[in-house]
Amino acid sequence: MRPLGILGGTFDPIHYGHLRPAQEVQRALALEEIRVVPAANPPHRQPPVANAAQRLRMAELAVEDFPGFRVDDREYRRGGPSYTVLTLESLRAELGPRPLCLLLGVDAFLDIETWHHWTRLPELAHLVVMQRPGWQIPAPLSAWAGPRLARDPRQLAGASAGYIYFQAVTPQDISATRLRAAIARGEPVAGQLPPAVWDYIHANRIYSV
Ligand code: ATP
Repeated sequence: MRPLGILGGTFDPIHYGHLRPAQEVQRALALEEIRVVPAANPPHRQPPVANAAQRLRMAELAVEDFPGFRVDDREYRRGGPSYTVLTLESLRAELGPRPLCLLLGVDAFLDIETWHHWTRLPELAHLVVMQRPGWQIPAPLSAWAGPRLARDPRQLAGASAGYIYFQAVTPQDISATRLRAAIARGEPVAGQLPPAVWDYIHANRIYSV
């Protein structure tokens, strides 16, 4: 069975720094599909500027140009804190033994030991870490991560969960925080996110002052 990719995030707003690296992972690992899962109530951070329905809608608009990407609204429907472990548990219950790949930027990977029940995450999915400008892959890896390192993507297809794989991707120096600030200042941001997402932000004056 081909692995399924899961790309979670606050997506406030979704941008090409999320979408293009994920598309490169999709191709490199021959993923069947990428589930884009907006966090309705992201823990560990300031409340988002756009509300959950707006962030979900922006994700839906964004994936129209990305074949094989599908928005999954389970964190929106579930309510409560949007813990990744709960999302992976519910996907695992639905999908059986199929390999699941949780896609993360290096920044998120560096933070993972603070996530709710984080030791469960590699029991539920592989962790596929995408390079991100400004962050370095830790060397050496921590004691829990080192033995899980996969060097060949075929290892991921051969197991349901448990490996960590670092995927080189074309660097996308884009962050949602900087995008919001640029929009508030009225600067051009068109090349950083899909046109339909920008049109939606503009029409609804989401990040403008
Ligand atoms: P912010 O700048 O507000 O922190 P963000 O741009 O990091 O937001 P998130 O929704 O928090 O967006 O990120 C979701 C996931 O996408 C995380 O795993 C994050 O590491 C990854 N990601 C975000 N931007 C990039 C990027 N430019 N390159 C690679 N991965 C990224």
